[in-house]
Amino acid sequence: MNIVKIPAFFDLHVHFRDPGFTEKETLQTGSEAAFYGGYSDVVTMPNTNPPVDNAQTIQFINTAKTRVKIHTAACITEGMRGEKLADFSLYKENGVRIITDDGKPVKNNRLMLEAFIEAEKYGLLIADHCEDLDIINGGIVNDGEISRALGLKGMNRLSEELLTMRDIQLAEYTHGAVHICHVSTAKSLQMIREAKERGVRVTCETAPHYFVYTDEKITKLDADYRMNPPLRTESDRKAVVEAIKDGTIDCIATDHAPHTPNEKADFITAPNGVIGLETAFAASYTYLVKTGEITFEKLIDLMSRNPRNIYGLTDEPPLIEVDLDEKWVVEPEKLHSKGRNCVFKGEILYGKVLRD
Ligand SMILES: [Zn+2]
Ligand SMILES: [Zn+2]
Repeated sequence: MNIVKIPAFFDLHVHFRDPGFTEKETLQTGSEAAFYGGYSDVVTMPNTNPPVDNAQTIQFINTAKTRVKIHTAACITEGMRGEKLADFSLYKENGVRIITDDGKPVKNNRLMLEAFIEAEKYGLLIADHCEDLDIINGGIVNDGEISRALGLKGMNRLSEELLTMRDIQLAEYTHGAVHICHVSTAKSLQMIREAKERGVRVTCETAPHYFVYTDEKITKLDADYRMNPPLRTESDRKAVVEAIKDGTIDCIATDHAPHTPNEKADFITAPNGVIGLETAFAASYTYLVKTGEITFEKLIDLMSRNPRNIYGLTDEPPLIEVDLDEKWVVEPEKLHSKGRNCVFKGEILYGKVLRD
């Protein structure tokens, strides 16, 4: 045993599906997953039903009695329809700090420019899911040798890179801040690295599946390996690790996205998304720290200090205990999330969060 006390984790990007899709997850089950994953706080995405663009839904989520603190993000546009900016003053009054149309990115560049200007006025941080849906054009996995060999419709990486480029330009032009969600390609990371070097206020996250796996996994035709953005190639995976090491990537989020086993049963028609709250620490510890890529202190920065700073929390997080020597097999049926769509299923991981 090698038990150490460390600051609890902060996840800037989770989907708890409540209200509206409680067959996938609820505020309670999502919070239990986060608690057992070592988190004290999470930021939930606003693509619920109704979407989080009104005071009632914000309060419903933020006042839930759960074992982790839930901070909801709110929509950039009304109803996430991409047509009209939501009421940012209402967000400010209700304690919202992050706005995003995660999953349905704002396409209209003029509207996004306005969003950057208005967000700055109300002290809101734009977090963007960078995806050009016209380029995606119905693709379901990374566009490359493997998708072509399998005869599957590919998601061109340009889709992510074009919107990353747009957001960096908008942040630079407005002197506003932007947080790029779930970065997965080498070129997106290079653009973010260069933007940071010239002083653009850009931060970003990645998720464990992007530094552990590649699109080799999709040859199993198991929809649990489908998420958005998709698993990329080995050169992208390596670029993610490099960007973690050199500070281009600020934090590790999970993009915890539960779906029902029924929805995930068919590879082609399944919705995108994987769960991640209960495996993020062990996967990161196993694949980044034990492999010697980063120090344990750096991992705590990525999972606790940096995301707290980006969110704007200044108080000290509670401490948790982890056993760094414990080796365990990931068994999705034993997880606290309602979701079973876990990319680490069957894997042996090191590092266990100890919770009563
Ligand atoms: Zn997203
Ligand atoms: Zn998401």
